[in-house]
Amino acid sequence: MTQDQDTPGQDGRQRPLPAGLHPDTLAVRVAIERSQYGENSEALYLTSGFVQPDSATSAERFASGQGYTYTRTSNPTVTAFENRLAAMEGAQAAIAAASGMGAVLLMIMGLLKAGDHVVLSRSMFGSTLNLFGKEFAKFGVETSFVSQTDVAEWRAAVKPNTRLLFAETPTNPLTEVCDIAALAEIAHAAGALLAVDNAFATPALQQPMRLGADVVMHSGTKYLDGQGRVMAGALCASAELVREKFAPVVRTAGMVLSPFNAWVVLKGLETLGVRMKAHCENALAVARWLEAQPQVARAYHPALPSHPQHALAMRQMSGGGGVVTFEVKGEGAEQLRRRAFHVIDSCQLLSIATNLGDTKTIVSHPATTSHGRLTEEQRLAAGVSQGVIRVAVGLEHPRDVIADLARGLARCGDIP
Ligand SMILES: *Cc1c(COP(=O)(O)O)cnc(C)c1O
Repeated sequence: MTQDQDTPGQDGRQRPLPAGLHPDTLAVRVAIERSQYGENSEALYLTSGFVQPDSATSAERFASGQGYTYTRTSNPTVTAFENRLAAMEGAQAAIAAASGMGAVLLMIMGLLKAGDHVVLSRSMFGSTLNLFGKEFAKFGVETSFVSQTDVAEWRAAVKPNTRLLFAETPTNPLTEVCDIAALAEIAHAAGALLAVDNAFATPALQQPMRLGADVVMHSGTKYLDGQGRVMAGALCASAELVREKFAPVVRTAGMVLSPFNAWVVLKGLETLGVRMKAHCENALAVARWLEAQPQVARAYHPALPSHPQHALAMRQMSGGGGVVTFEVKGEGAEQLRRRAFHVIDSCQLLSIATNLGDTKTIVSHPATTSHGRLTEEQRLAAGVSQGVIRVAVGLEHPRDVIADLARGLARCGDIP
């Protein structure tokens, strides 16, 4: 199925999409596989198998992988999600997975074998660090961990058997930004690929393939869904990588995206642009306010001029994203934790939860959740002290989010 035309609807007309459409338009109009009923909203094909007209056609479809046979191999709703995401990322193709981590697993299985070497930012998502550093170390995939922001460290880590550089930008929770174009150059000079986890920025703010990345990985669970409903993941890449390296793994290993979840995320993509604009605006308003509070040691958001990679972020992204992180003032781990817990527990509106990219603002304490399994020393090296609070700003009015954070911050300095 091609990305650039409507399929025939009830009227039997097949209309090619006009060329040069804006990404906002692609998000709504591209990759529609309309049934004979001509539905305007995308259909949900909730079926595990597909009836074949006869044995010869069935045999042909099984042999070629073309046409629909079984949902572990392909499904029209999943295909629609893949094609729409690919169009939005400026990629030739995409392949869906059951979750963001399912997509990372798919990437490892598709691209790497025992004896291969990978370079990873030390500030990547915790489960990604574990999947490489622990699970795949068992299978002989070797990983070096480097600074998120120091390009020289990435270059120095490359070895003759390096096959993949994998970065995430901005990172969780400190929103550190890395230079995608510079990393692509290092990867390609070494004959390796660059993969970028684009979950925080989304294609609405940053398109890594246009900066030289070879693979873009997504957790669709976050902003692509945007309403905290389903788990989903995907890889965007060249048609060749998807066809030769990734599709055979999904087909056999089975980390497929459910058609229902694909449909939810497909519809989520339609509003991604307007939602991301609002997330960015709201987060920046919260970040500016936080930065001015006497109880706050520092606030992190890529659109704040005080952010260490502000200039790079503004060049590489079209907005700072929806996540703001800040550190309360205090002395020593115990006091910092008591103060952070006080701020979080004083909220009456914000959700204490694990997730981000939801309409509902989510507040979390990284040191005891996402970074809970590290030692205190490792946490401090990562910049995640007990006083750090992450706010994944949602779509409530920012005035109300600020008022909720102000409740706990007001008395925070009195807590021993
Ligand atoms: C959530 C997240 C993941 C993992 O995605 P799941 O859908 O939870 O499996 C990977 N990377 C980043 C940056 C994330 O925020």
